[in-house]
Amino acid sequence: MEAAATSKVDVLIIGAGPAGLMLSLWMAKLGIKTRVVDKRTGKIVSGQADGFQCRTLEIFDSFGIGHKVWHEANHMHEVSFWNPGEDGKIRRHHRGPNTQPNLSRFTEAVLHQGRVESILIDTIRASASPKHPLVEIERSVMPTSLHIDESSVDDEDAYPVEVTLRHLTEEEATPTQRLSNLQDGLYRSNLAEDDTERLLANTAGVGREEKVRAKYVVGCDGAHSWVRKTLGEEYQMKGESTDAIWGVLDIIPITDFPDIRSRCMIHSAEFGAMMIIPRENKLVRVYTQLKQVSTGTGRVDRSQITPDVILETARKILSPYTLDYHYIDWWTAYQIGQRVGDRFSKHNRVFLTGDAVHTHSPKAGQGMNVSMGDTYNLGWKLGLVCKKLLQPHVLDTYELERRQIARQLIAFDHKFSRLFSGRPAKDASDEAGSSMSEFQQAFREAQLFITGVGIHYQPSILTSDSDLKGGLQGTETPSQSQVTNLAESAAHCQPGRRFASQIVLSQADARPWELQLHMPSNGRFRVVVFGGDISQATQLATVNKLGGWLQANVLSPAKSPRISLAPGPDPRGGSGSSQWMTDEDPSIVDVLLVHSAPRDKIELLQDLHEVFHPFDKKLGWDYGKVFADDHGKAHEHYGVDPDRGAVVAVRPDGYIGLVTGLQAEDGWTRLQAWFGGLLRPSPSSS
Ligand code: FAD
Repeated sequence: MEAAATSKVDVLIIGAGPAGLMLSLWMAKLGIKTRVVDKRTGKIVSGQADGFQCRTLEIFDSFGIGHKVWHEANHMHEVSFWNPGEDGKIRRHHRGPNTQPNLSRFTEAVLHQGRVESILIDTIRASASPKHPLVEIERSVMPTSLHIDESSVDDEDAYPVEVTLRHLTEEEATPTQRLSNLQDGLYRSNLAEDDTERLLANTAGVGREEKVRAKYVVGCDGAHSWVRKTLGEEYQMKGESTDAIWGVLDIIPITDFPDIRSRCMIHSAEFGAMMIIPRENKLVRVYTQLKQVSTGTGRVDRSQITPDVILETARKILSPYTLDYHYIDWWTAYQIGQRVGDRFSKHNRVFLTGDAVHTHSPKAGQGMNVSMGDTYNLGWKLGLVCKKLLQPHVLDTYELERRQIARQLIAFDHKFSRLFSGRPAKDASDEAGSSMSEFQQAFREAQLFITGVGIHYQPSILTSDSDLKGGLQGTETPSQSQVTNLAESAAHCQPGRRFASQIVLSQADARPWELQLHMPSNGRFRVVVFGGDISQATQLATVNKLGGWLQANVLSPAKSPRISLAPGPDPRGGSGSSQWMTDEDPSIVDVLLVHSAPRDKIELLQDLHEVFHPFDKKLGWDYGKVFADDHGKAHEHYGVDPDRGAVVAVRPDGYIGLVTGLQAEDGWTRLQAWFGGLLRPSPSSS
């Protein structure tokens, strides 16, 4: 073995699956010195996860890649429920929307994980610039030791985590496939032993080792997480496994089953349950319950599971319809269980994300989405803390916010997977069977959670409590008018929820825009001013007064730091950020104005304060910050009274942080206090 060299890095990411890649993307966008290592030789080429929920697509869109995934993916609009009829044969029992309408501008879409990983990797590369170091994925590298110097964890300039990395040989890094001619996912399945211990035990002829000192280490290393195990007993996952085993086939089906291009949940009388997921390129994913290999003792003979066994079971469940295939893309099998960790971070220096802290069954299409949701939540916080733009204690909110979501996920999956795997009840007196109407109802009721749109982070330093206790923290007892002002400013914008999108018209050129597209994931906070009817002189005066106040009290370098924006795809179109062309970094706080006056009654440059059309000596005025909501639909959707207006502060991840009144100077002070508790002024301005 060669001697270990030591290097320093701000963030070390272990594992380059969906969670690790989403985090790498944030690091690349924010210009953080980062290393990303993965023990495998390459990314997934087929199979594994495939379902992208509405909120994940919104997140992709905020990085300028939503349209790519949306364009290539299959969109699942419909779901059919098939149950046994009185004659025991399956029948379509119900057909309905797969995603509740109007929750998002997207619906659930399916595309294989490997393709999305490629898109993420391309976007990570495109984010490099003179101010943004290239973030590269280093394959065939795994950690062998991790040590935290507890004496320096509170020193933000320290590199308290030391990790030894081993560079693996190609043979060590390549997983064994069961069938020589076909990709399987068994090596990633919870039915397979993980190879990490075997690799660690191998001391003969091992590759180069090096030591890395990191400010932060993030374990994105999946369900068998080495990082989690290394952190100690208190990081163990808790939960249970069932004896239900499911097989998965990705095939181009040849079948007379009428709903093969719809999502289907099928329960047969005798042979178990099945789910159909219609995919891109004529592929269909078939999940079948494998009753014959579920021993009931928790031990499973993996050698019994082959693509033929899965197909045979699917045929029995689908009978009298037929099923065959010529082309199979991928297959796997897994055991249903739900586990979640109690702790997601150690000293806010080592973090656990994704499958490393929560695992469950894959049928509700949640794992990859929630895993990326974890690192989408962590990434901007970590990046801005590394850049010394954000107070380090904001990192506490990662565990607070994401553990809550993981627990909800486990509770949902526990209920859903048991109803799915249960035998259909013959009638109301059959207590041992699962009620199919209860199953359908559970699916419908869980829509907000499944789509990711219903996430509601609890009150914290980042999400001011909208109820008045938290909303007025630090002020005197509220007067009745303050109470009314705060509670009703934007009734449908709740702190902790994502800022939903509405279509508004650009004031400058009448182009309709989804408002979310003007909130790209580039590390900036937003203040969205709902101006109401600014054709009224008093309302216009209030908005302009607020503009002046924001410029002096929130946007000035003395109050909020500057941030350099990375190039790369921009959700608003064009080839990338125009920030390249200017030497000046903008404020970390961006201001948008949405008004409900008739568009032609307002002149952008003449009527509005310059904070709403900032000037740059190389780029001229910014025409992209003011929007007309001519018919007041967006104001109505956000719950804003056009006669009063409102101000909504949005975090860099698109979640609402604070809502306050347009009129109330008390509210403006709250806004200033909120930013003051989070941001650190630029060193040059202090
Ligand atoms: P992983 O994807 O497991 O990635 C972990 C990465 O870390 C891997 O690249 C691995 O090589 C690397 N690694 C592991 N150990 C080490 C180590 N010691 N050192 C260095 N690198 C290491 N989810 C959905 O959202 N929708 C779906 O439709 C869906 N379908 C699924 C279908 C199946 C059949 C299965 C099995 C899962 C499905 N999931 C689905 C779940 C989803 O695949 C996972 O939840 C998701 O991949 C978790 O992402 P992750 O990045 O946390 O972990």
